[in-house]
Order: sequence, then C-alpha cells, then structure tokens
Amino acid sequence: MAIALVWFRRDLRLDDNPALQAALDAGDTPLPVYLHVPAEDAPWSAGAASCAWLRRSLLALDADLRAIGSRLVLREGPSSLKLLSELIQLTGAHSLHWNRLYEPAAIARDTAINKSLRRQGIEARSHDAALLIEPWTVATAQGTPYRVFTPFWRNARSQLTLQPVSETPARLPPIDAQLETAGSEWSMPAVARINQALPAPESAWDRNFWSQWSPGERGAHEMLDAFIEGAAGHYSAQRNFPGRIGSSRLSPHLHFGEISSRQIVQRLQSATWTPTQEKSIDAYIRELGWREFANYLLFHFPTSAQSDFNPRFRDFHWADPDPHLLQAWQHGRTGVPLVDAGMRELWQTGWMHNRVRMVVASFLTKHLRVHWLHGARWFWGTLVDADLANNTLGWQWTAGTGADAAPYFRVFNPVLQARRFDPKGVYVRRWLPGFSELPDSALFEPWRFPDLLQQHAPDYPRLPIVDLATGRAQALAAYAKVSGNQ
Ligand code: FAD
Repeated sequence: MAIALVWFRRDLRLDDNPALQAALDAGDTPLPVYLHVPAEDAPWSAGAASCAWLRRSLLALDADLRAIGSRLVLREGPSSLKLLSELIQLTGAHSLHWNRLYEPAAIARDTAINKSLRRQGIEARSHDAALLIEPWTVATAQGTPYRVFTPFWRNARSQLTLQPVSETPARLPPIDAQLETAGSEWSMPAVARINQALPAPESAWDRNFWSQWSPGERGAHEMLDAFIEGAAGHYSAQRNFPGRIGSSRLSPHLHFGEISSRQIVQRLQSATWTPTQEKSIDAYIRELGWREFANYLLFHFPTSAQSDFNPRFRDFHWADPDPHLLQAWQHGRTGVPLVDAGMRELWQTGWMHNRVRMVVASFLTKHLRVHWLHGARWFWGTLVDADLANNTLGWQWTAGTGADAAPYFRVFNPVLQARRFDPKGVYVRRWLPGFSELPDSALFEPWRFPDLLQQHAPDYPRLPIVDLATGRAQALAAYAKVSGNQ
C-alpha cells in the first residue's frame, strides 16, 4: 500500500477527521505525523499552559492510534517543510493530507508547503475540519466581509449544512512493517519524542489543572456528555454565573481539535429537549457562532491580532504600563475581589469563566488604561484554551477597539458585576483565601471593612490599586479625546 502522510495539527482526534479519512478513502496507509515547530507560530508560539495541554493531548492521540494498530510519529525542527520533505524522502510517501487552520502564520506556511510539495510531485491536500463554515463562504451583499456579528451569524447559520461525520476507523494499517527499510529513525516511540519536545513542566506548576481537565479526544467527549446531561438545557439562564457550572468548558478541547464544533452541534441536535431547553441549545450554538466569527475576522483582517481594529484608537492615550500594577493584575492582587478571583482561577486551573474574562479585561484596559495586548499576552501564556482568534476577539471586544465591540465608554463595574453574577460570593470565596469567613456584606467592597479583612484575610490588599470611580473617569476622559476620530 502507498503511504500518505496525515499531518495532525490542531485536529487531535480520530473521529470526524477529514484528512485521515481522505488518506483511507484513497486506499493508502496513513502515516500520522505531528510536527513541533514553535518558531513558525511567532509571535504567537504556544504559551506554557497550552504546551502543558498539548503534551498530554499528543500522548492521548498516540495511545488512541496504537489502540487501532498505528502510532504517532513526532518530529521537531526549525521548519515544517523541511521535516515533511525528510519524512517523504524517508518513507516514500506519495501524498500529504492536513486539516486547515485560519491564522495568518499558518496560512502563509501551509501555502508555501503546498506549492513546494506539488512542485516535487507530491499530492498535497487540505481539508475542512475546524469550523462550521469556512471564512470565504460568507459575505455581505456588497461582497465585503462582515464586521458585525449578528448579520454575519444570520447569514452563516442560513447556509449551515452539517456533513455527516466520519467515525474512528476500527483499524489502521500498521506503519512499522512498511518502514522496516527506513532504519532506526523509527524505533524511538512517540512518548519519548513528546517528552523531549514538550517535557512535563518543571516543578509541576500545572499539577492542579488535571483534576478538572482531561486532554485528548476521550476527555472531550466526556466533557460534552457531562454538558448534555447537566448544564446544556439551562445554558441561557446559567452561563453568566461563574460560581456555577453553567457552560460547556469545551474551549481547550475545541482549540486543539479534540472534538469538532460540527460533532457538538450534531450531538446537541440529536438529543431530546423541551421547548425551553431548545432555546438554550440555540443560545449555545450561537456562542459557537462567536468562535466562527472570531476565525472569520482573523482570516479577513489578519493584522487584527497585533493592532487595534478600530483606527480611532491609534491616537488613544494608553497608560505606560506600571510594572507593579500590571503584576498586581496578573497575580490577582488588585484588591478588587471579582478581578482577583478570576486571575487566581486562571493561574490555578488554566481557564477562566467568560463573564470574569470580560471583567478582568475591562479592568485592565479601562480602569488601568493598559493596552489590551498586554492582557492578551498574559492570557496567551496562562490559558489552556489560548486561541489567537478567540483571544483577539475577546480582548478587542472588551477594550472597545474591535470590529464588533463593546463601546469604550462601557466600563464594567467589577463591584456591580459581582453583586449581579456572584451574589452569594460562591466564586470569590472559592478563589480568595480567607473570604469564606467574611460575611456577605463585606464581600464586594472589602476595603470598607478593614477590621474584617485584617481578621480573616490578612494577606489580601487593604485598598484597590486604583480607585474605581477615578479610574473610570480617567478612561472616559482619554476616550473623549479620540471619540471624534474616524
Ligand atoms: P461555552 O459558553 O460553553 O461556549 C462554547 C464554545 O463557544 C467555547 O468553548 C468557545 O469555543 C466558543 N465561545 C464561547 N464564547 C465565545 C466568545 N465570546 N468568543 C469566541 N468563542 C466563544 N476563548 C477561547 O477559546 N480562547 C481564548 O483565548 C479566549 N480568550 C478570551 C479573552 C477575553 C478577554 C474574553 C472576554 C473572552 C475570551 N474567550 C476565549 C472567549 C470565551 O471566554 C471562552 O471561549 C469561554 O469562556 C470558554 O468556556 P466554555 O467552553 O465553557 O464556553
């Protein structure tokens, strides 16, 4: 049988994997390959928390491949093209399949690889696996890209036809028998290569992550099952409350492609729901639509990961970030409980609730007037679901600089947000030591209760790092200076 390389990237699954399926449909022996070339993603090479997830996800993928008779081949080096060319030479592969990504760096690299391999007579084919709808298929009546979510999603949703998904093959042709002649290169198991390329984090700083996350395809499906049995039917009512399990927590699994959004939509649509629950399922699918929109915007406006989408902000007077203030925000020591609880949830679990992401991002970009890229970079290193499209959209939306964004003058008040979305303090008590002992009345503005703070949370800051009213007023004054700009 002829060999086809199947290049796994952020599609670390065997179900619904069109690249793998195409190799099988062609009657080839798929050779599953992962290339670790972080430099190609610069300046957005995966951060530490993403690498910790990736390591486990690759180990899971290798185990899943072994269970059906194959295995993962991992290579690292300075250039994917070089590594692929070496593999083709070594194995005599005649074709290469991959599933498409939509970040600017990935598109540039994949286009160059496609051209180069075709010139060498290798069949290089890309497939559609990551999104519900590819970015070039949706446009306004004028043929331009949408900049606003609602009309984008109305159009995209009306076109949505979900292809049936392929299932994990019962067996894959073994690769080792075919590669005997390729030499000792093949004797090193993927586990050893993964340990070399993505070693376990030093001092096991990620140790608390794994009681709640299970990277890999199986973990993704378990998470979806739990969502369908639990929160899905109440999603609309519960999703904004960070103290409850009200959302799917599928974001890291979706980012690494351990499950696809079309698998999720198909599972949700084939379950039985009451009419009220159906509204929640619709709301959830609309949220997946934001993920589509994020990829759409990054595809059509590739510089938006680096610069303000709205040109008005090019003259905005951002504050020079004071390292002490920035560090206080990063480490959850601002003295504002909901902000600090969020930043500590992030540090300890690699994830943060969406409502709290908005609150901490608003606090940084408005109360502290720090440019959103400083926050986006911190999230990039610390989130297990760090995703260039979603992170850019989330930060530019909250900062008010984005395509479809909250207006800059909408400054989230972290005290009111906490009263509304964490009224009993379940969330802040979970993440802030000593807060479980504070009475409800002192939870939201603890600086008004210095004696109670001293007694129960002596290590917590006595005062917020910025007076909330002053920070807000200064942000609005800075905005007033550019609000007439186009
Ligand atoms: P659910 O509510 O269960 O939603 C299901 C899925 O829909 C999510 O997993 C995600 O893939 C998608 N989704 C939901 N909300 C959004 C949204 N607003 N924008 C884009 N996609 C969405 N999401 C990331 O995946 N990676 C990021 O790096 C990221 N950075 C963010 C930064 C900021 C400042 C903000 C405000 C939001 C960011 N988000 C990011 C979006 C959102 O917070 C997360 O997707 C969500 O919290 C993940 O939890 P969940 O899987 O339980 O979401």
